[in-house]
Amino acid sequence: MAELVFFSGTMDCGKSTLALQMDHNHRARSRVGLIFTKLDRMGESVLSSRLGLSTQAHEVGDDLDFWDVVVEHLTHAQRVDYLICDEAQFYTAAQIEQLARIVDELGIDVNCFGITADFRTELFPGSKRLFELADRVQVLQVAALCWCGDRATHNARIIDGVMVVEGEQVVVGDTATASDTLVEYEVLCRRHYMRRMSSHAARLASTTPDVLPFDDLDVCPVPPRG
Ligand SMILES: [Zn+2]
Repeated sequence: MAELVFFSGTMDCGKSTLALQMDHNHRARSRVGLIFTKLDRMGESVLSSRLGLSTQAHEVGDDLDFWDVVVEHLTHAQRVDYLICDEAQFYTAAQIEQLARIVDELGIDVNCFGITADFRTELFPGSKRLFELADRVQVLQVAALCWCGDRATHNARIIDGVMVVEGEQVVVGDTATASDTLVEYEVLCRRHYMRRMSSHAARLASTTPDVLPFDDLDVCPVPPRG
């Protein structure tokens, strides 16, 4: 039976690396797949991992219809054994429904990879629909780590060095925006997410002990240097 599977996690949990590995394993068994991604940090139509691997992929615009793309391939006698869909958090709910239909009516395996929640801790639309429809949700086991060394479970948005919890849901990281502000992301444990304590803020606090923001709450360890 074909399946719709959602591999979910935080940023830095290795999901794009796993997506590339999965594609490699299928191809080594002479299976033919289609790879999709959206807003990859390396640019359009590329699926890249932080370990430096990358491959060509179809870019998923809001008006892309997965059903049409796959049927188009099949009607031209091109095999499609599986789909790998990275950055699936950015897909629309309708696109996730198209993927479910591909599994059910065409018997093709669909493997989606994505971040669960945004920098405000709210589910992305694609992730929400995947939680609702997927046959299986697999939480990725490569633990991303907070600066304190605890397991990172939350994605923080940092603008010009300051953590924010309001704003547009989708802003691709490591980019200077029109107003020349620098947008970055950092993974944090929930405790430090709730305290708005990015690694930068923690370093500042550790070098200016008189202004520790958390008095005698259980004091956080200083982040490791280097
Ligand atoms: Zn932490």
